[in-house]
Amino acid sequence: CGIVGYIGPKPCVPVIMEGLARLEYRGYDSAGIAVAGGGHALQLRRAPGKLRNLDAILREDPVHGTYGIGHTRWATHGRPTEENAHPHRDGTGTLVVVHNGIVENYLQLKNALIAKGHKFASETDTEIIAHVIQDELELAVASTRTDAALKGTGFSPSINAAQKAGALASEAIDGSDESQTVLTAPPSLSLEEAVRRAVKRLTGAFAIGVLSAHEPDKLVAARMGPPAVLGIGEGEYFLASDVPGILHHTRTIYFLQDGEVATLTTQGIELTDFAGQARTLTPQRITWDP
Ligand code: GLU
Repeated sequence: CGIVGYIGPKPCVPVIMEGLARLEYRGYDSAGIAVAGGGHALQLRRAPGKLRNLDAILREDPVHGTYGIGHTRWATHGRPTEENAHPHRDGTGTLVVVHNGIVENYLQLKNALIAKGHKFASETDTEIIAHVIQDELELAVASTRTDAALKGTGFSPSINAAQKAGALASEAIDGSDESQTVLTAPPSLSLEEAVRRAVKRLTGAFAIGVLSAHEPDKLVAARMGPPAVLGIGEGEYFLASDVPGILHHTRTIYFLQDGEVATLTTQGIELTDFAGQARTLTPQRITWDP
């Protein structure tokens, strides 16, 4: 229902929590936040009910970081419990997704992923998105391995270099069980490319925000249906489901279009379509007040 994301020099928790509060009028049944950066690992907190419940958890068990995403959920698939609240994790626990909308083919995707060994922690359609992105990252590792094997000389120098750099887990290279490809370090595919490949497998409606512990200082957003806006500040960038969530920080806003993927870093925003073709970001100045 409500999405707020931040990347920049400031502690992100107050920005996200205040933004979510400004979107409260839309109604919701649970809330959650995932943050990282500034030397902090990926941390996740979620709570059923009002934002003050999440606030209470954050006061007791604070999270810190310079980039993150928060969500207020209006349940469509699964009861309003902590497990079903967003952000949702992939099977490795290293990437998280917030989502507005409905993934219509979620059951079909879920069953196919279960057959591949994926384990799910919630009843939501949203969790499937995180697992499909994970699946794309793992498919990229598997195809790199197959390419190398086809060369007949073992692994190519680039793979050895990647392995030395710790880019791939040794299990991913040496493991004999194909289904047990495990990513324990930076995957070979960028997060935004994995998101582009994943969203093409979804039918239905979605505005999503994604972050991965493997790619620090990066937020990825994609849209097909529900609104999503990007905010451009001074060395800081915002994502929201609607303008009031971020307007108190910046009035330079870009309305993400259907079929677009945005990659937010501390350096700026890169925009493409789902096929990876560059799009021009044409922000507008918002002069009205919500
Ligand atoms: N379909 C998702 C869920 O039930 C997202 C709901 C929303 O838009 O808040 O978790």
